[in-house]
Amino acid sequence: MLIFNDIHSLKTELQRLSAQSLSLGFVPTMGALHAGHLSLLNYAATHCDVTVCSIFVNPTQFNDKKDLERYPRRPEEDKKLLQEAKCDILFMPDVQEMYAGVEIPHFELGYLNSILEAQHRPGHFDGVAQVVYRLFDLVKPTKAFFGSKDFQQVLVVKRMCQLARLPVEIFSCPIIRESDGLAMSSRNLLLTKEERVVAGNVSQFLQFAISMLGIKQLYEIQAAIEEKVAHLPSCKLDYFEFANPNTLLPVTEYTSGEPIVALIAMYVGKIRLIDNQTFNF
Ligand code: AMP
Repeated sequence: MLIFNDIHSLKTELQRLSAQSLSLGFVPTMGALHAGHLSLLNYAATHCDVTVCSIFVNPTQFNDKKDLERYPRRPEEDKKLLQEAKCDILFMPDVQEMYAGVEIPHFELGYLNSILEAQHRPGHFDGVAQVVYRLFDLVKPTKAFFGSKDFQQVLVVKRMCQLARLPVEIFSCPIIRESDGLAMSSRNLLLTKEERVVAGNVSQFLQFAISMLGIKQLYEIQAAIEEKVAHLPSCKLDYFEFANPNTLLPVTEYTSGEPIVALIAMYVGKIRLIDNQTFNF
């Protein structure tokens, strides 16, 4: 695996590959890698000739300074995991390398920038659009692979690519989970033992919600989830919503045969967890 910290050497290698007309599969990450990230690399390897992973904890997408400070960083473990996963190229720039002296366009993300995650994390998706644009501009991938755990992020990235007319194909890949259902996340490392047990409830709430479709009204399911969270020690619900998975616009009434996604964001202690589950028929 080739590791680059600077843009110049990355570009030199990418130009060499582009001269051979090889397809590039790209997986942008913030590191502290787990099986979820590695599954994306696996998809990239299946669909493309060369796999590129980036590790960059992007400060512009953190609306909470403390969250940025405590975000787990494990560069040596990450390199080992990527090597084992047969990643071809790892790009690990610092903040200076990524942003100094570059002007990045602002993207009008529309309603995607005011609902769900955006409502609770102002500025987050502007930062996401900015960093993904910058990375795509550098790497120029053929295809890029994202986790559907960050459901809204995938829509934001697609919108940004449309606006910037970037010729990259975006893939949304399945959520990889722990044995109790908890969606894998770098932030899970920050949970205490007790919080980690409680965190298992997040995916169970989604399963419960999906199992109630067509039996209870959506507002009743929502109220039941709110009550369940209220009964958990040191937990706080940011939102639990049903939406159309293609647009993320809210759904207030379930129609059998129409796809629906349930999305949740909640704090377990100080750690904010998100998860979702789509129901297709
Ligand atoms: P992050 O390092 O958290 O920014 O995530 C990098 C990429 O990995 C994003 O596209 C995430 O959606 C994806 N990802 C994170 N957790 C998972 C998971 N449990 N399963 C699948 N993909 C994931």
